[in-house]
Amino acid sequence: MTRGDDGPLRAPRGTQDLLPPASWEWQRLVRDALDDCARAGYLPVETPLFEHTEVFARGVGEDTDVVTKQMYTFADRAGRSLTLRPEGTAPVVRAVIEGGLERGALPVKLAYCGAMLRQERPQKGRFRQFSQIGVEAIGTEDPLVDAEVVELGARVLANAGVDATLLLNSIGHLAESCRLGYLSVLRAFLQERSDELAPDDRARVATNPLRTFDSKDPATIAVMTSAPLLTGHLCDECRAHFDAVTGALDALGVAYSLEPRLVRGLDYYTRTAFEFVSGRLGAQNAVGGGGRYDGLAEALGGPRLPGIGFALGLDRIVVARREGGVEPPPPDAVRAFFVALDDDARAAAFRMAVRLRRAGVGADLDFAGRSMKGQLKSAARAGARWAVILGRRELDDGTATVKDLVTGEQSTVPADDVVRVVAGDGSP
Ligand code: AMP
Repeated sequence: MTRGDDGPLRAPRGTQDLLPPASWEWQRLVRDALDDCARAGYLPVETPLFEHTEVFARGVGEDTDVVTKQMYTFADRAGRSLTLRPEGTAPVVRAVIEGGLERGALPVKLAYCGAMLRQERPQKGRFRQFSQIGVEAIGTEDPLVDAEVVELGARVLANAGVDATLLLNSIGHLAESCRLGYLSVLRAFLQERSDELAPDDRARVATNPLRTFDSKDPATIAVMTSAPLLTGHLCDECRAHFDAVTGALDALGVAYSLEPRLVRGLDYYTRTAFEFVSGRLGAQNAVGGGGRYDGLAEALGGPRLPGIGFALGLDRIVVARREGGVEPPPPDAVRAFFVALDDDARAAAFRMAVRLRRAGVGADLDFAGRSMKGQLKSAARAGARWAVILGRRELDDGTATVKDLVTGEQSTVPADDVVRVVAGDGSP
């Protein structure tokens, strides 16, 4: 139901509106995060909100919950199957191949921030439309780049004020000497304990046994505590790669906790896998995750382009901030708020506000004919540093009274000096 019997229309379930001041905080978080990424050489990329369904079917994987249960897939008027993007990595890799970026210097380093859509059951921290900030480093296997991506993710979270724990694992690669050999061992173990597994998980043993580590079912979880682990079955190259990643993180002083049950259950996900979890998020405790996807570009029909990336959930970053007691800061774009005491003063205030804006200084004024007290309240709500008061006397004298809303000091200055005073540091 989109509307109550007689109420106004509402947003769809699992979506949220971003209103001031939270929308202002949100924009600052995005800007700061993308700046952190750019300073590490990851420049912004934008891909469409929808893709051919194939991009996700092949790029995320036919056996994943995302593809089998959560995608918003529809046929357009020409009968093409399209899907609203549920994640950012497959579209970015598709765009890199389509744009031929791999013919330039490698790795291609890109960052994005945007809405993702998945039809999941909404709950605290879980939405049907949510936003992710992510990076992708495409075209290298260098373990230093794994460390670069992991450290960058940790730093973006720390700068956003989120206290997160980094879980780290290697899931090897698709060879008998490595993950394939291990999967036979795991499958044999799971078949032996099949009766104890939840029915959904039992069905996965044949198709995607690694996913049983992700099960939320208590019976399966109990079985998995004694399951054989991939860590002991990594081939020499994957072992050495992982040692190089952890060594580089150690050298950077990035704290992590090895989590041998952390998996990404698809063939083209390889080697490094990681997740950031926060104790402040309740059941949906993952604030971000990432990993290496050395087979993804080929799965999308492109050349071999090993890569690694992360995606952080912006909505959950905000939830974690709130749980940590951080409220949205007041907006600080309006520096001067005009307080006009009659209609003539309002007309003058309007002209002066626009003059300030043209000079690059944020300025606003009251349009509702509020009292002086009400206008001063509006000034505070706007986050203004200065109230510029215009009354009869100021108009007659060609002056303005500027009040510093931080110190409470006020003085009367020539009208032409207002720009200089409010743009300055507080000394009239
Ligand atoms: P994933 O692409 O599933 O690895 O998710 C990466 C991050 O995106 C997660 O750690 C969450 O922070 C966030 N995320 C994923 N799904 C949702 C959702 N339904 N609602 C809010 N955030 C989500």
